[in-house]
Amino acid sequence: MANEEVNKFGETAGFIHNYIKEDLKGELNKIHTRFPPEPNGYLHIGHAKSICLNFGLAKLYGGKCNLRFDDTNPAKEDIEFVNSIQEDIKWLGFDWEDRIYYASSYFHKMYEYAVKLIKKGKAFVCDMTAAEMKEARGDLVTPGKESPWRNRTEEENLDLFERMKNGEFPDGAKTLRAKIDMASPNMNMRDPVIYRISHMSHHASGDEWCIYPMYDFAHPVEDAIEGITHSICTLEFEDHRPLYDWVIREIGEFSVIPRQIEFAKLNLTDTIMGKRYLRNLVETGQVDGWDDPRLCTVCGIRRRGYTPSSIRTFCETIGVAKSNSVVDIQQLEYCIREDLKGDTPVVMAVLDPVKVIITNYPEGRSEMLSVTNHPDNEALGERQIPFGREIYIEREDFMEDPPKKYFRLSPDKEVRLKGAYFIKCTGVKKDARGNILEIYATYDPETKGGNCTTRKVKGTIHWVYAPTAEDLDVNLYENLVIRDETSENGYRLNPDSLKTVTAKAEPCLKDAKPMDRFQFMRLGYFIADSKHSKPGKPVFNRIVSLKSSFKP
Ligand code: ATP
Ligand code: MG
Repeated sequence: MANEEVNKFGETAGFIHNYIKEDLKGELNKIHTRFPPEPNGYLHIGHAKSICLNFGLAKLYGGKCNLRFDDTNPAKEDIEFVNSIQEDIKWLGFDWEDRIYYASSYFHKMYEYAVKLIKKGKAFVCDMTAAEMKEARGDLVTPGKESPWRNRTEEENLDLFERMKNGEFPDGAKTLRAKIDMASPNMNMRDPVIYRISHMSHHASGDEWCIYPMYDFAHPVEDAIEGITHSICTLEFEDHRPLYDWVIREIGEFSVIPRQIEFAKLNLTDTIMGKRYLRNLVETGQVDGWDDPRLCTVCGIRRRGYTPSSIRTFCETIGVAKSNSVVDIQQLEYCIREDLKGDTPVVMAVLDPVKVIITNYPEGRSEMLSVTNHPDNEALGERQIPFGREIYIEREDFMEDPPKKYFRLSPDKEVRLKGAYFIKCTGVKKDARGNILEIYATYDPETKGGNCTTRKVKGTIHWVYAPTAEDLDVNLYENLVIRDETSENGYRLNPDSLKTVTAKAEPCLKDAKPMDRFQFMRLGYFIADSKHSKPGKPVFNRIVSLKSSFKP
């Protein structure tokens, strides 16, 4: 295999490639991975990393990757999430073909395996309450105490387990526990609960079951049933691996023995990713739905204007490591800029407009100017934009009393209007408080198209012809959360995370369709919002600004 292929997902991913290559040298011919979301929320960028890794490895090594809904917990799971997860994975560019599975469809098998463990003397029904169990568990230096119910007979265990299934006991009254070792240094091996009672409807199995398997029992069973060869999960499951292996070994009837491999979760600077947190923001109406463009959900990022390929590139470049770290969000922004820069049309809009009156341009006249749609991509062609006596420029592109290296507009100085003419500022009108109301300028008709052979100007600014300017709402974003050590999770909502301004935009922008992308010259990349745009009245979201201090 070529070196660059092996380096996919970064140099740090070497340990995963090593495991796979080692396994492929043995009896294994093909790898089989899975992406196992719990349908209790929308996917976020961390899940995207796991998706890229699982589907990406399968593709790289000519294997397969399943989509499996890990729906063993009836609480908070919902069909809305099942659907959104599929949509997001497809959008990211991955295909599970016909391999979509539901853990809930294995409930009968799981029950059968639990019975098998009871018969082997490897599981027992326990009457301890959750609090008693916690008390008896011990800690890292103290061994746990064995349950008084640990030595029930096989007959009694089988009878009680069946009656648990039949709904004879209330929630919490009994559990089924694996019989392993209460003195194990690994707390996960101290007779963990593998089934609990929960009289709750399940989004797929309805009221058929009132006992549900615990993750640590269900997950290895799901993997083994599907013939998964490499079960890739995040680091917090490292200590659960002995239990994972125990479950598969003790059931003992699988032809493929899956290998669990852990990697570090993706964390992004100043971004909270947990589904619980995201769900709370959505349910309390603090954001505009799961797809609020400020959220790091896959649908939020999509609505924000990110492309699937920019996210895949991001997931590959950040690599896959064995230890936790935090990735700078600017790295994600870099990927979208790189993806958009070559073929996104460049247009002009003014976010904070101030009017400029070109006093030597005849009143009542206007002209059309040809401008290119992209400086380096001829294929995008040209368009005509109107120009005349009154235009808008960005308020910050004028300074009455500029510092030395200010190359934009200032009194008696010339600047180039992109694709139009040189103008020179001749005066300003202010209100009583000193705010600038209008700027006066003259233009040089000999500099049409912004070209001039006799003199140079350093600055080029964007502008929009006033009489035909479109008023369009533009959403500008900052991080949704800011660090705050005094708050519960170390963060609080940033009150300035969304700022909506009414921009003055070139006429062509009013025809933008939802999800159309543009570069607004000097301001960044923008997308027409998919939720709030109306025909003839698009609303734009800033995907990302143009500049960054970040160097990859
Ligand atoms: P959250 O903590 O955000 O609720 P989760 O791990 O509970 O996420 P699951 O639906 O159980 O969400 O996750 C599906 C898969 O995605 C799992 O294999 C999980 O390890 C992986 N995953 C979740 N979060 C991240 C992350 N931040 N980085 C990489 N992989 C992740
Ligand atoms: Mg989970």
